[in-house]
Amino acid sequence: MKISTQIIYNLFAPYYCEKRLFFAYHQIKPMEPGPFEELIYKLGMRHEKNYLNNIGEYVDLSEGRIEERATLTKKLMANQTPVIYQGVLQERLLIQGKTIEITGIPDFLIYENGNYCIRDCKLARHIDDKKHQEIIAQLKIYGLLLERIIDQRAKKIDVVMGDNSILEINQINSIRPEEVLAKVIKIVEDEEAPYSPVGWSKCNGCGYRHICWEIAVREKDVALIYGVDQNLARFFWDKGIKTIEQLLENYNEMSLSEVYRPWGEKLQKVGKKARKILLAAQAMKERKNLLLKKIPLPEASNYVMFDLEGIPPYLDDLEKIYLWGMQVFGEKKSSYLPALAPLEEEGDYLGWKIFLQNSKKIFQKYGDIPFIHWAPYERTKIKLYLDRYGDKEGIANRVISNLVDLCALAKDTIILAEPSYSLKVVEQVAGFKRTQEEYGGNWAIAKYIEAVETEEKGIRKSIIEKILKYNQEDLEATWKVFQWLKKQNDTLLF
Ligand code: SF4
Repeated sequence: MKISTQIIYNLFAPYYCEKRLFFAYHQIKPMEPGPFEELIYKLGMRHEKNYLNNIGEYVDLSEGRIEERATLTKKLMANQTPVIYQGVLQERLLIQGKTIEITGIPDFLIYENGNYCIRDCKLARHIDDKKHQEIIAQLKIYGLLLERIIDQRAKKIDVVMGDNSILEINQINSIRPEEVLAKVIKIVEDEEAPYSPVGWSKCNGCGYRHICWEIAVREKDVALIYGVDQNLARFFWDKGIKTIEQLLENYNEMSLSEVYRPWGEKLQKVGKKARKILLAAQAMKERKNLLLKKIPLPEASNYVMFDLEGIPPYLDDLEKIYLWGMQVFGEKKSSYLPALAPLEEEGDYLGWKIFLQNSKKIFQKYGDIPFIHWAPYERTKIKLYLDRYGDKEGIANRVISNLVDLCALAKDTIILAEPSYSLKVVEQVAGFKRTQEEYGGNWAIAKYIEAVETEEKGIRKSIIEKILKYNQEDLEATWKVFQWLKKQNDTLLF
């Protein structure tokens, strides 16, 4: 059996999934990477090249046949070559009585005081015993290979992270490479793909989503039920409860609330969540949403729909909001009011300032009206920017006190016959249709970075227009969902 550390990556990233590892090992073709995946790849390569350009002299083994590179790597290490770039560590290891050939390609092998260090470049900025297990596993397996090849433990195993700081991973004990390899062998050796529950966030960025979701929906997999987390789905599966119907047939609120499923190192009771899980299962079975009580929607003549587009901290030095989108809907609809951070040094601050000015204008014209947003992101980011730049006029605090998280209200009051409360799902329930074929938060991030990096003004303008359109449609979608929820309330009156 032959295994590469690249394949093992699939077990852990983007989320832990045995099935993805099985698919990747058996060369099942994933979907083509989208703009976001391409962006991550491009930024990763750039990070590595930047480091490479500053490392001084090195021997480049990045090209050629794997076996030849592996032989050369051994020779270069025997000659104590100071820096080997993209060397190949290939060795047979005996794991639980089985001999497997493992191949790993660390970015750098660096000779220091009589021994080799292993160094990889990664975009991640936080790696610990919970985050980025894929990186730890990969590097520790390199360590195992190196030890076997040169009969010496690696002097150091470390990562050049996205912010260029260097983290030694030897002290992180959450991953034991032999255990990972044993698990990998067990998974890939099976004739059938293992069960791994689908999950909205888990599967969203996965190239096999088209396969797994089709099967899960067709088979009415219990994991589709909103509120059934990964551990609970596995618990059900082990008990032979595989479908939504089987769950409803075998559990009532009392018995489900008494279920203990694994939670980290411990067990956790389902408890009060049982009621909503069973209601969600019923809603899915009947394909019918269920209103539990009146949705406490704010009463006003006009409402601001509010949506931010941001860049996560692992893609930039600063966690950035690059677009603060707002539009008033209701009796006196406003035009779309985007605050787009200009592409200049002070752009982040200027974007915040434009957002405050836009908010001030809204307050002047409409008074204190509700700022409707979907999920907690908007509230968290305003607070982040208040800490970062302040706000002398108190506009941001005024916005905060008018914020209404529509997603939280919906989750509390209406059981959807859907696997997720993501806006992109609920807007479809409400009948909203987008005009752009490609959209989504990650799509917008990738496009924004493309716009920042292009020298072509025309291309930049056209990309920004698409991002603005996407954000504006998010606002329209939120308004559509708001109106739909209002209509659901009306059904309670009769
Ligand atoms: S779509 Fe989901 S379940 Fe399927 S391989 Fe990917 S992460 Fe695993």
